Amino acid sequence: MPTAEQAQARLAGIPGLELSTHTPLSRHTRFGIGGDADLYAETESEDAFVAALAAARGAALDVAVIGDGTNLIVSDDGFRGLVLRYRAGGIRSEGNCVSVDAGASLDALVDFTVERGLEGLETLAGIPGSVGAAVYGNAGAYGHSISERVSIVRFFDGSQVRAFANRECRFAYRESLFKSHKEWTIFSAELRLDPADRATLRRTAAGIVETRNRKFPTTLKCAGSIFKNLLLKDLPAGVALQVPASTVREGKVPAAWFLEQVGAKGAHRGEIRVADYHANLIYNAGGGTAADLRALIGELQARVRVRFGLELEEEVQYVGRFG
Ligand SMILES: Cc1cc2nc3c(=O)[nH]c(=O)nc-3n(C[C@H](O)[C@H](O)[C@H](O)COP(=O)(O)OP(=O)(O)OC[C@H]3O[C@@H](n4cnc5c(N)ncnc54)[C@H](O)[C@@H]3O)c2cc1C
Repeated sequence: MPTAEQAQARLAGIPGLELSTHTPLSRHTRFGIGGDADLYAETESEDAFVAALAAARGAALDVAVIGDGTNLIVSDDGFRGLVLRYRAGGIRSEGNCVSVDAGASLDALVDFTVERGLEGLETLAGIPGSVGAAVYGNAGAYGHSISERVSIVRFFDGSQVRAFANRECRFAYRESLFKSHKEWTIFSAELRLDPADRATLRRTAAGIVETRNRKFPTTLKCAGSIFKNLLLKDLPAGVALQVPASTVREGKVPAAWFLEQVGAKGAHRGEIRVADYHANLIYNAGGGTAADLRALIGELQARVRVRFGLELEEEVQYVGRFG
């Protein structure tokens, strides 16, 4: 088996792959947190991505695929292995169908569709991150999620490129089959939209971005909501009865409601803080660590567990080793 040094040399020889070593992952996460990756590589080429995976696999290196790092908590110890990012960002349309590479930003995709008078993604305006991760986590907002518009997802399963139709992706609230196959990488997706009035779409998107920017200032080092909301129908009857009807939206109870009941607002560990205006928003006030972030998340989960007997599940994804 090739050594890590030989694998590095092989990676360095792959055309179209930008490789670096001892790369601080804090530069690649919106939290601004994370130690070094032994190896870090980006590419816009599917062939280079597949070759990089093969080189890493040949040397038994661990691999983590990331997007724009807006939903990641990376360990302070970084990542022993190769961190890979697929960056191709093309967006094309034919009639009501749009095909998009996974590395495109979701915002660029939303703008593209709005400007062509195509309805269906405008409520996702302002959600940070790449299209690949949006499909992986079925990103959504204001009652809609990307899965409503995805018709086909092309991905690499470790040996070949495959295509799944929407129902094969098993989309659910912030879920997809890709979340249980971390070795799969999404390369592109096709979406089906509806024709609509461009000015109306623009107004909707602009209004949503304005609201978002108030809630999540663009410089805030955070991951949006830390925990997933809860489906009312899944709550134990005794808990469901305590939830005021006015807090339920589209059948979901905001995780923030439970967090507020346990006094989460303003809680902190070191420089990691829960916003005092939003109990499900944790941010790095500057110089915070992944250890403190993980500890604060654990503390909030414990408070909710003790009071309600519920397990809050992170929406945010972890990279590297914790605890
Ligand atoms: C201020 C703010 C507001 C937010 N608001 C929302 C919101 O309203 N709704 C919402 O849904 N999310 C929201 N988020 C979360 C975040 O925007 C989404 O989760 C986004 O889809 C993450 O994209 P990313 O490219 O940054 O992914 P990363 O954070 O880099 O990665 C997230 C996960 O996606 C996986 N992944 C990345 N690329 C691929 C790929 N090509 N193939 C397979 N897996 C891949 C990674 O392995 C990782 O597990 C918010 C985040 C922030 C910071």
